[in-house]
Parts: sequence; structure tokens; C-alpha cells
Amino acid sequence: MNLEAFILGTGGMMPLPNRFLTSVLLRREGELFLFDGGEGTQVSLRKLNLRWKKISAIFISHTHADHVTGLPGILMLSSQVDRDDPLTIIGPPKIAEYIESSRRVLDMYINYEIVVKEITEPGIVYEGEGFHIRAFPLRHTKPCVGYVFEEDERPGAFHPEKAEALKVPRGPLWSKLQSGEPVLNSDGIMVYPEQVLGEKRKGRKFSYVTDTLAFPEIAQEVANSDLFVCEGMFERDLLESAKEKKHMTAEQAAQIAAHAGGIKKLALIHYSPRYTEHNLKQLLKEAQAIFPETVLSRDRALFPIEYED
Ligand SMILES: [Zn+2]
Ligand SMILES: [Zn+2]
Repeated sequence: MNLEAFILGTGGMMPLPNRFLTSVLLRREGELFLFDGGEGTQVSLRKLNLRWKKISAIFISHTHADHVTGLPGILMLSSQVDRDDPLTIIGPPKIAEYIESSRRVLDMYINYEIVVKEITEPGIVYEGEGFHIRAFPLRHTKPCVGYVFEEDERPGAFHPEKAEALKVPRGPLWSKLQSGEPVLNSDGIMVYPEQVLGEKRKGRKFSYVTDTLAFPEIAQEVANSDLFVCEGMFERDLLESAKEKKHMTAEQAAQIAAHAGGIKKLALIHYSPRYTEHNLKQLLKEAQAIFPETVLSRDRALFPIEYED
């Protein structure tokens, strides 16, 4: 089952000609989940040529303009296709008011149901088949949340030699054991999945954290992420100013990744518009000194998220 993250934009505060605002689209076997949608998000979606009208749910970190002003356009264009299932929009308080007032003032034509859920406490905010998405509080100038997408554990690896030793004939009975069902062997004795499967295996994990001070609890939430997309807005020499504005430096993002443990890749995002390509290399250098598996997110880059084994 494929899981991949498309980076739709990497900028903070304002879109630039070659850098749209921070937004990530997660695709799991054709299902689409959008994380934030600032001005211009639909341009990136269109450039990627994805079936973006079928987004299942939208997750908003907070209601600052650079994270939400693209939503009305996305909602309106979604009306160009017929959809029976509702679109879920999740975010901190004010997201319902924002969606409702945009619909009203803009007289938006919407031919499908929108379900808005405001997050009032940390925990699971969305559940799908074999995965869930949870939210946890960040520390910004207004209510802001981070999101963690996590798949359920997978059954352990199948050991054919064990099945053979237990006299289970190769074929459909093997598949049954692999999917967790007990079967009868050729002597009519019951064989249980635990006898032929290894330890349960971790599912894939993706985390999205932007617009926050750095604080230790973030590390606990994002530990063991296969892909950790995190704000790296400023260089180290702007640490004080980052703190004041309740943002973080790339170096702080790397410290969180290093401290969390089990993180496969840190992708920096939400760059300050002051930074040129040259500056971004410096951000990366500062982060890699602490967490070598750091990369710079790029507009419309694709990160496949693989199983551990
Ligand atoms: Zn922002
Ligand atoms: Zn913000």
C-alpha cells in the first residue's frame, strides 16, 4: 500500500514566485489528506496533476492567513465533481467560524457536505481503515496544533519453514495464517498464526509540525516518524527573534528530531521569505550538524514513506 507526501508549498508568511505557502498533501492508496492550505495551494495541486478534488479530509494547524486563505478556492473547485461522501475539515477553534463566514460572504456554491470539527483537546481527530490521525497542542501566538498520522501495527513476517514444519500445506492456508486466522494442518491439528509469524511490525508514521516554539513534548509526539515535516523558519542567528515570534529555527527542529529518537527523515518547511536559496543551504547545514537525516522540503517534492522492512 503506497503512502507518500507531496509538498505543495514550503514558505511562511507570504507566497513567493517559486515558493508557495506551507502545505502538505498525504496520499494513502488514492485517499488524500491535506495539511494546511494557504494562498496558492491549488496552483501547486494543479501543477502536480493529482485528483485533488477528492480530498477526504483537511487538517489545519491554525487560522493564520498563510495557512488558510487557500481554503475557499479549494472548497469551491471541489464542487466541480460529484462527491457523495462529506469533506471533513479539522482544526483549532475559529476554523468553523472561518469556513462558515467564507461560505456566507462569498456565496460559495458547494454541492457536497462539509463537516467541520474543532479540536478542543489533544487526541485522535480522524480514523480511517488501518490508520488514525491525532492532534496535539503547539505553542504559537494563537491556538495551533501539530498532527501525527499513524498506521496500525502490521502482522509479523511469515516464516514458511515454520508452516512447513507444522505440516500446513502451501497455498490458501498460508494466506489465512498470514492474515491472522488459525487453520487445520494435514493431520487435522490446529495451527495458530503466532506459531508461524514473527513479532508484530510497526506501521508507518508521518508528523506535521509548524508555527511553534520548540518545546520537549513535541519530541515525544513525533518519535519514530518515518517522515517528520517540521518548521525550520530561521537561521541560528535569529533564535531570539524566532522565540519572540513563537517560531523555531531549523537547528531547533533538528534538536527535536535527534532527541525524539527513531526518526528516519526530517524535512524542513515554512521558510522565512527573507531567505534566498543560498540561505536555505545554511539552514540545512545548521540542522544537519545535529540531525544528519535532514533535508530541505521543496515545492512539489514527493517523499515516499516506506515500511521499515
Ligand atoms: Zn505560518
Ligand atoms: Zn502562524
